[in-house]
Amino acid sequence: MRTLHKRVLVTGGAGFLGSRLCGKLLEDHCEVLCVDNFYTATKDNISGFFTNPQFELMRHDVTFPLYLEVDEIYNLACPASPVHYQSDPVQTTKTSVHGAINMLGLAKRTKAKIFQASTSEVYGDPEHHPQHESYWGRVNPIGPRACYDEGKRCAETLFFDYHRQHHLRIKVARIFNTYGPGMQPHDGRVVSNFIVQALKNEPITLYGDGSQTRSFCYVDDMIDGFVRLMNSADTLTGPINLGNPDEFSMRELAEQVCSLTGSRSPLEHRPLPQDDPKQRQPDISLAREHLDWQPTVALEQGLRLTIDYFEQLMRRGLV
Ligand code: NAD
Ligand code: UDP
Ligand code: UDP
Repeated sequence: MRTLHKRVLVTGGAGFLGSRLCGKLLEDHCEVLCVDNFYTATKDNISGFFTNPQFELMRHDVTFPLYLEVDEIYNLACPASPVHYQSDPVQTTKTSVHGAINMLGLAKRTKAKIFQASTSEVYGDPEHHPQHESYWGRVNPIGPRACYDEGKRCAETLFFDYHRQHHLRIKVARIFNTYGPGMQPHDGRVVSNFIVQALKNEPITLYGDGSQTRSFCYVDDMIDGFVRLMNSADTLTGPINLGNPDEFSMRELAEQVCSLTGSRSPLEHRPLPQDDPKQRQPDISLAREHLDWQPTVALEQGLRLTIDYFEQLMRRGLV
């Protein structure tokens, strides 16, 4: 006979954020079904859950239909690093769009509540600063980042149409840059790149002049925001920004990583990628008001924890 625990599906559950979310849901006594096609992840982040009878892993690509019974769905499946999402851009769009249709179809049939991992990339290279949810964004629809940005924008459209047309309970989070333990060392995103390079005393690859900014949120703060949003009143659909409003230039980030690691790495300038957003900072007044949520981990503290994690991987010969 089935237990009365909540049955939660996490797509992209083996990835950086997904694996941390699976851990949090297991702590909260949910039955967790992790679905992943291992496009950007390995089993490393979830192998610790394999002995837990509340955890189940399924290798599956969300662009194909999926029939099972669940109470809640967190739809995270999608490569998030520009290096990965641009390496097979057609698959990236399919994952966001076909993946959203299939997961929304599943939510419709099972009457499950469904969360979408959207992104600050829906704002593109923004003219409004900081970015509020009411801003419609400035995205180049035909550039190399479009497969990700437009895929995520179309997924938001689908979520709101299923909400209006089929009365689905939806929760759309616009996630700003998140970092922390569990990132893949070769993922290509800035925090993992800089830390791995610094620990190896290799050149720090700074794209452009390093004046472009990002606002970095520590992973545990972000996961807390996900769960608060999922558990909020059904009337709260989002979109809602989740991120840390503390903004830093990439040059400042490089300097801080070098100082915290005591690295001898020199800075090496590389060309700025096309359409790289110049600035990004979330306005989180909605999340503060409706979720009573705000980040608690400052960049220096979060970087120290992330550096410890990469040092452990290095000791195990995994970097
Ligand atoms: P990640 O690359 O570590 O994880 C993505 C996971 O999705 C991986 O395990 C990958 O194998 C899986 N996946 C990819 N395509 C799939 C498919 N077709 N079917 C099934 N699984 C598939 O990235 P992450 O940082 O954990 O990001 C998780 C989600 O959050 C993504 O949707 C991403 O767009 C969103 N997001 C993340 C950030 C961030 O800073 N980490 C920022 C904004 C949005
Ligand atoms: N779908 C799924 N699992 C389900 C129900 C539906 O994967 O439990 C998929 C199905 O393949 C369909 C999509 O979700 O293509 C959208 O479903 P919906 O019911 O909205 O549309 P329809 O089936 O009418 O096209
Ligand atoms: N970046 C960098 N060096 C790197 C990787 C990234 O200077 O090795 C810059 C990149 O150009 C961007 C910022 O860091 O301005 C954040 O990049 P990331 O790929 O982490 O995420 P994005 O926010 O661009 O999706």
